[in-house]
Amino acid sequence: MAVPSPSFSLSKHSLSNSPSFHASNPSLDPSKASVLGTQNVFGSKANLGGVEQTHLRLWNNLKTNSDLRLQASREPPGLTKELKTDKSERMERIGHGSDLFDEMKQRFLSFKKHKYMQNLELYEKLAKGQAPKFMVIACADSRVCPSSILGFQPGEAFVIRNVANMVPPYENGPSETNAGLEFAVNSLKVENILVIGHSQCGGIRALMSMHDDVETSSLIGSWVSVGMNARVRTKAATKLLNFDQQCKHCEKESVNCSLANLLTYPWVEEKVRNGELAIHGGYYDFVDCAFEKWTLDYKESNLKDKGGRVAVKDRAFWF
Ligand SMILES: [Zn+2]
Repeated sequence: MAVPSPSFSLSKHSLSNSPSFHASNPSLDPSKASVLGTQNVFGSKANLGGVEQTHLRLWNNLKTNSDLRLQASREPPGLTKELKTDKSERMERIGHGSDLFDEMKQRFLSFKKHKYMQNLELYEKLAKGQAPKFMVIACADSRVCPSSILGFQPGEAFVIRNVANMVPPYENGPSETNAGLEFAVNSLKVENILVIGHSQCGGIRALMSMHDDVETSSLIGSWVSVGMNARVRTKAATKLLNFDQQCKHCEKESVNCSLANLLTYPWVEEKVRNGELAIHGGYYDFVDCAFEKWTLDYKESNLKDKGGRVAVKDRAFWF
């Protein structure tokens, strides 16, 4: 398992997030992680047992290693020797496995003992098929795992994760995301699609950092340009705000852009129109640990006209 690094980087300055391993980052605060780990929106409280302990050990390993790298990067060039040592140690660790896999093994065995073996009936049922009620589209960012923050258990959510939780419109053609969408809607017949944005999203910063008239050769730039409508709306609505504030606005605007794009798929639009499928937006703020949820109001949305917008209802804040 690779040691995570700060999220997606298109250019050194335009995309760098705040360091993922800063000690004050709530998403990596073990005390908060253990609290979050026991939440379950479906009512059954997860028994994590030893998993939490191995989680804490893994967290400490990650934090120690990253602190070393962050510290080294701030030192003057005279410490080249130490940097080389750090690099060689890192290469040795990557090439020959590490404690991380020992930790991972303990986590898996703990999962097997405390969850799988104690819920055999459920897992035997899941071995025959899945019938999740949710499809979730979330960012690939390592800090925003939907199952961790919303407590989805095996079999409850069909999850697609991509850079900046985007849904391309139907006319863009095949992609991993809409292949998963087709399977979830037409084969699994999920009843809800939830698109989740999040705070400090590197993909959204990439989108907001792009130049209007420059073709990008970056794969990330090409992908996040799917959210160009969100960028345009954000720029128009937030002229007086600074860049960070604009990005935060766009993180939510792009979710609504994805909700609108979902309706460009005829089989999605038909099911939403018939009341067989509901589309929801969500926003996870891992700085304050808060979650905002809303639902697309199909009847009130105006998507036929160019520049039309989605209407939302049932907005709720969980904090
Ligand atoms: Zn993101």
